[in-house]
Amino acid sequence: MANSIIYGPVPSRRLGRSLGINNIPPKRCSYSCLYCQLGRTTDMQIGREAFYEPQELAQRVKDRVKQARERREPIDYLTFVPDGEPTLDINLGEEIELLRALNMQIAVITNASLLWLKDVKQDLQKADWVSLKVDAVTPRTWRRINRPHKSLKLETIMQGMLNFAETFGGELATETMLIRGVNDDIGEVRKVADFLEELRPDKAYLAIPTRPPAERVNPASEQAINAAYQTLSERLSKVEYSIGYEGNAFASTGNAVDDLLSITSVHPMREEAVAEFLKNASTDWGTVQELIDNNNLVELEYQGKKFYMHRLPAHNVKEGGRRVAQ
Ligand code: SF4
Repeated sequence: MANSIIYGPVPSRRLGRSLGINNIPPKRCSYSCLYCQLGRTTDMQIGREAFYEPQELAQRVKDRVKQARERREPIDYLTFVPDGEPTLDINLGEEIELLRALNMQIAVITNASLLWLKDVKQDLQKADWVSLKVDAVTPRTWRRINRPHKSLKLETIMQGMLNFAETFGGELATETMLIRGVNDDIGEVRKVADFLEELRPDKAYLAIPTRPPAERVNPASEQAINAAYQTLSERLSKVEYSIGYEGNAFASTGNAVDDLLSITSVHPMREEAVAEFLKNASTDWGTVQELIDNNNLVELEYQGKKFYMHRLPAHNVKEGGRRVAQ
């Protein structure tokens, strides 16, 4: 069993400090997403398999948790986020059960393509937090962005997600990666919003690629991300960006500039909300103007209203680090 099977804890905006579990050898997946940070899928498969000995994998996690505790490094989640699709691991359910002995929260980040299989659904039901990929809900766009295994059917996958959501007792998240010219047009986004309204996740995340992707793709523009945010927010109570900033939008630092940038990296702020924020921070619109002039903040219009959003990184693909946060 390779050493890289457990990594972290790494900071994750969605999960706090997450200890990553890499339960799939590279790179086995049922998809070969255009934007995959692991490159193109070399082993495309939908059949589940045993890759590692569950007892041994669990022991590795336990050892790492012990080590982290000794160093006083906090861990909020044990997260299955491997070099491929985690549900291809036929032992996933057993591994989650073995890790229960640690009395910690367990998360799985899946592309959801196998959720229509009874055993996959049962395995994921054992987790505390599950994130499902919903990049597109029309077959043509889905094939273009996720490049699925040829025997997969989108309709079956969507039904699988709906069935899972009905019975899952943990926290359900979705992630929609927005790629310019592929799935960021408002027509597709509206259909995604319709589906998410039916799915009712606890939180829907909008993401863009922040690490080198498999193919040359561009993230959606700020304008398109804002439009997608507004469209999803009309139907869902909790929508957030996950666009590559790890700032904490939920803890005020007392510094108006830092706080404004943190908040707008998670969701756009309406003009009135910004005005209210400035008033409470005893500062004025000059702060906002300076951030716009310095290319840190961008002003957007949507349906006649003004919104402010953290500007996307100039080089929106970060080099280096194999894994950062999820
Ligand atoms: S589902 Fe995940 S691992 Fe598989 S190709 Fe897409 S981004 Fe990569």
